[in-house]
Amino acid sequence: MPDMASPALARGTVDRAAERRRDEAFLDEAWRSGRVLVLEADGRVLVGDDGGLLLVESADQEGERFFLGLDRDGTPLWAVVGELPRKLGARPVTLRDVGAHLSDRDAGLYVTAIALANWHATHRRCPRCGEPTMVADGGWVRRCLVDGTDHFPRTDPAVIVLVHDGADRCLLGRQPSWPRGRYSTLAGFVEPGESLEQAVAREIREESGVDVDDIVYRGSQPWPFPASLMLGFEARAVGGDAKVSDDELEDVRWFSREDLRRGEPMLPPPASIAHWLIVNWLSRES
Ligand SMILES: [Zn+2]
Repeated sequence: MPDMASPALARGTVDRAAERRRDEAFLDEAWRSGRVLVLEADGRVLVGDDGGLLLVESADQEGERFFLGLDRDGTPLWAVVGELPRKLGARPVTLRDVGAHLSDRDAGLYVTAIALANWHATHRRCPRCGEPTMVADGGWVRRCLVDGTDHFPRTDPAVIVLVHDGADRCLLGRQPSWPRGRYSTLAGFVEPGESLEQAVAREIREESGVDVDDIVYRGSQPWPFPASLMLGFEARAVGGDAKVSDDELEDVRWFSREDLRRGEPMLPPPASIAHWLIVNWLSRES
């Protein structure tokens, strides 16, 4: 489980070695001596008996290579999208399932690999001229050979907010597709031209009818489903009655700390920053 200091997917330890990404000789050698995390197109990877990510030799791996960085002992680490290797005792997992249970290094590796893979899968053509692009800079660029433009992996900022009443209650909502009884913090994408604080106030108002103030940033983590960076906040309700006011949620409701400690409602999974925001708030006595 993640500790309270950082959200589950914000624990990476790998040195990204970004200054080496344009060094072809370095990358060639780093591939030969490196270890590879293989992802399926749906983002699944293998974990071994010990619950850690299964990394394999680079020799047999086909496909586009993404240089993830250097491990603490200097081992180069890569990701490739392909068929999962056959290994005795290994089992396929998803980031949502295991993100909170992986080691710090593995959580960071997996989230970076899946974020890069998702971007490459959907940005294969140049947004300027429409021609196919090539992987460059160890997977951190796609280059158009027709007009020479470079295109960089995107991350879309989203705000996620634990709204409280300044005392003992917090406001949670649920989407119809979630397992029965699960509620979570409210969230939404930052729009062009908007500050984070404006996005927080607008999203909470749109989704729950509640006005907020005292907006405080708490922490962030990547959420590559497919390409979000979740920016976690707390905010205090200062007006408005909590009620569903768009079609994204089917219910919004206030819960007390005692409700939450009793297990009511069911919380979002431990890999989510929503879980971290709620548990952090719960651990403080109003
Ligand atoms: Zn182009």
